[in-house]
Amino acid sequence: METNLTIKASIVEAGCAMLAKGLVAGTWGNISVRSEGGVAITPSGSDYLTLTPSDIVTVDYNGITGEGQRVPSSEMPLHLAIYTARPDVGAIVHTHSIFASACAVARRSIPPLIEDLVQMTGGGVEVAEYALPGTKALAENTVKALGDRQAVLMANHGLVACGRTLKEAMLIVVLVEKAAEIYVHSQALGGPQVLSEQDIQIMRQFYLEHYQKRQGGISCG
Ligand SMILES: [Zn+2]
Repeated sequence: METNLTIKASIVEAGCAMLAKGLVAGTWGNISVRSEGGVAITPSGSDYLTLTPSDIVTVDYNGITGEGQRVPSSEMPLHLAIYTARPDVGAIVHTHSIFASACAVARRSIPPLIEDLVQMTGGGVEVAEYALPGTKALAENTVKALGDRQAVLMANHGLVACGRTLKEAMLIVVLVEKAAEIYVHSQALGGPQVLSEQDIQIMRQFYLEHYQKRQGGISCG
């Protein structure tokens, strides 16, 4: 496992990338990565442009703060619930990007409509039942709708992406946003023809076994 300092620096870098790509505005959204004994997470009210590694908070799986003076993100319960339910998840990125949010407010799941999406997420992207932000109910609903996939929409809120690494989680938020945009545009053409479950599984396995080794992921810079 990387050192906490390296992890914190990568979170700061990813926060800037998330803002630069228009995936969040202002201080919304949050990022976490598994670290020694728990999780490193962005603080509440993160101004990504001025955030430094020392602002990143570490918490254990009960949410007790270790390193850092700031208050952890208000969505910390959501992040901890996912890490607890999914030992394979190493990093979580939560964004409020436009097209993913359009699907989230319509409470329409994104079907398995394009290859890069299903390779990275294992299928379509479901919508978790609505609950107020920061609540235990939101954490429970989100874990339930996420299942064994890598991304989930939160009704009337935004997107949560889970990767084995932060680089992978960042790539997933971009691919889900792209898929959501394609989905919305495809409605003008009569709606998408979705991929079959068999083809999805073949592509997902191929990604897991081969492609990821060559995949550099996106730069967080
Ligand atoms: Zn949010």
